[in-house]
Amino acid sequence: RTVYVNGEYLPEHEAKVSIFDRGFLMADGVYEVTSVLGGKLIDFEGHAKRLARSLSELEIRKPMEDEALLEIHRELVARNDIDEGMIYLQITRGAPNDRDFVFPPEETAPTVVLFTQSKPGLADSPAAKEGIKVISIPDIRWGRRDIKTVQLLYPSMGKMMARAAGADDAWMVEEGAVTEGTSNNAYIVKGNTIITRQLSHEILHGITRAAVLRFAREAQMQVEERAFTIEEAQQADEAFITSASTFVMPVVEIDGAQVGQGAPGPVANRLREIYIEESRKAAI
Ligand code: PLP
Repeated sequence: RTVYVNGEYLPEHEAKVSIFDRGFLMADGVYEVTSVLGGKLIDFEGHAKRLARSLSELEIRKPMEDEALLEIHRELVARNDIDEGMIYLQITRGAPNDRDFVFPPEETAPTVVLFTQSKPGLADSPAAKEGIKVISIPDIRWGRRDIKTVQLLYPSMGKMMARAAGADDAWMVEEGAVTEGTSNNAYIVKGNTIITRQLSHEILHGITRAAVLRFAREAQMQVEERAFTIEEAQQADEAFITSASTFVMPVVEIDGAQVGQGAPGPVANRLREIYIEESRKAAI
């Protein structure tokens, strides 16, 4: 695999980052995951915009313009011959000469790393036909989940807790209401209405979420942006998650309780279909 690190395209085993990198020592960095369908990028503009916002909220210098970033994405897709898969991008505050809580001097260059992940069959995922099972866990993350930081230990532990419980993923709960999934936004469906938590500092502003809500409204579905509880979700007609890597994925069980008929529902299936079709058309 050819990867990108700080201006160079290299074989993955030759790509290196300093042990003093603040991403490594302090999780002082942000990331984006952009999906690839038919060798083209899905929603690049949305990801680039959110990246710029994450960087600006943390006062990390934006290392290059979006056009240059797009060029690197395309180059990696081409060099690695990616038809379906993902591109991971990470930017950290860089590598000063020592460990210090204080931010390094202005001139410290941010570290920029990108690599591809080939996922043949991403759009035709068997999991989407069966749906996934989730458990609920308390949301103990920090208060700025709208910034896409590389601080992913708790979401990673959440996936392990799900696995230990025989489930696929976890929905996080704070003050009695679902915030989001470990690496995705959470939704329920009641009749013709799609319910998902409103945007705030409590959740990541999903790029897939924005697209799916737009498609839902265009398809004359009702959208309610509000918090919901696990109990309400268990009694809903359908449930699903969205993310760049799963698109729209039906949820068929929550904390052991079957949702609806215990199979992917028509709304989630339709939204998945529309999302993939429209994203393919708009891909660049
Ligand atoms: N919420 C969290 C916590 C995430 O980590 C992610 C994606 O990684 C999402 C939501 C979904 O965001 P997107 O649709 O932009 O992938």
